[in-house]
Amino acid sequence: MLYDFVQCPHRVYLDLYGDPDRRDPISAFVQLLWERGSAFEQETIEKLQIPFVNLRVYSAEENERLTSEAMKRGDSLIYGGRIRMGNLLGEPDLIRKEGSGYVAGDIKSGAGFEGMSEEGDGKPKKHYAVQLGLYTDILDKLGVSAGHNPFVWDIHDQEVIYDLDSPMGKRDATSLWEFYEFCLENVTLIVNQKKKTPPALCSMCKLCHWRSFCKAQLQGIDDLSLIPELGRSRRDAMLPHFKNVDDLAKGDLNDFIKGKKTVIPGIGPGMLETFQERAKLLNQPDTGPYLKENIDLPQFETELFFDVETDPLRDICYLHGFVERRNSDPLTEKYVAFFANQPTPEDEKKAFKEACDYIQKREPCVIYYYSPYERTTSRKLQKRYPDVITDVDLESMFSANIAVDLYLDVVKSKTEWPTNDYSIKTLATYLGFKWRDKEPSGAASIEWYHRWIETGDVAIRHRILDYNEDDCIAMRVLLDAVLKLSIKNI
Ligand code: SF4
Repeated sequence: MLYDFVQCPHRVYLDLYGDPDRRDPISAFVQLLWERGSAFEQETIEKLQIPFVNLRVYSAEENERLTSEAMKRGDSLIYGGRIRMGNLLGEPDLIRKEGSGYVAGDIKSGAGFEGMSEEGDGKPKKHYAVQLGLYTDILDKLGVSAGHNPFVWDIHDQEVIYDLDSPMGKRDATSLWEFYEFCLENVTLIVNQKKKTPPALCSMCKLCHWRSFCKAQLQGIDDLSLIPELGRSRRDAMLPHFKNVDDLAKGDLNDFIKGKKTVIPGIGPGMLETFQERAKLLNQPDTGPYLKENIDLPQFETELFFDVETDPLRDICYLHGFVERRNSDPLTEKYVAFFANQPTPEDEKKAFKEACDYIQKREPCVIYYYSPYERTTSRKLQKRYPDVITDVDLESMFSANIAVDLYLDVVKSKTEWPTNDYSIKTLATYLGFKWRDKEPSGAASIEWYHRWIETGDVAIRHRILDYNEDDCIAMRVLLDAVLKLSIKNI
């Protein structure tokens, strides 16, 4: 519940009190995450070179009793135990003896910290911290805690210590422990139905089994979170002033703007005006999308629409796909893909090299991609395989005069759309484009890649390539539509 609360408080409420018949099926990607999580835990435990007690096989109450006995005996490492105090219940993967007490830990098939990669050390993951906080709280209350330093054994075979008494980040002095206590207090209120948790359209909704139910509810009340990029916390800040999208669309902003500020915490005058424009568009979708200012794009005969597919579970980039077009002529359009057949460094490097060579052979050209992800992935691969391309050559490939991030440089900064978000799926679908696959998504592609590795089924490989090609074509559809938009002076 604590983990879910960090993702979305309303999820905790619906899982407890919602009508199970209204749930969407669990997505194949979420099931893959569960599978990978269990498989990784199994592999980690099988590799363990130190003695441990395995309680994973025991069910609830017997497990609790055996965990308690193991700690009383002073066993050095307990796997799959279960601890309880009052209404707090935790199932840490590991409980380890340290000095005269115990610390708890989890085995995670992800990086131990957020943003932990070649680029840096990252920061604690809040959803991991609240779980570790719970175990530590129970051990404290049982009087067997060795301190507030639980740990994660992560996908990189590293032990990552969570110092719960340290601040959450450089700009946030709240400790992880205080954050855990805040979450516990709120989850307790939700469980006891003493706190209301309205839904809000957010990035978590895509993979949530309540997505259709919540979307219908939000549309029914014309909720402010339907406005692109507004989100839950801004919605909550705006609610005392605007009850829904219609209210904001029709409101007189002069009543809310005071000099360089507004009366709404965290929202400046410019942002409020933008949200009002988006509210008006949602209210009158027939107005259609428009430009806020002129766009000036690089002009080259060859255009490349570029999209990568990556698997965060294996930390691999398995596909670089391009749709190539000349002189804006649809008849010249062709799809070119560089695929890592196996999730190995050799295949990943080969696909990266082929993609770099392909781009360099087509220069001068303009490269279109959607969000900074293609660029950051290419930078990461360059650091991983510096003999493929120099950092100077890679930076020049993505320099502003030849590479365009259609999301940041065009859609987000220079256009408005009558949609609930600005994902390429949403915008291209709005423009009438249809993906060949019935369930197109980056998450689904990762799941297919896993099945391709497991089975070698060429139909699955085709599905991955078709989906990637459609993503590239969707960018071309979007670009062509944007070039036809006219400026609306706000
Ligand atoms: S669909 Fe979205 S708002 Fe609803 S419970 Fe899930 S994450 Fe929360």
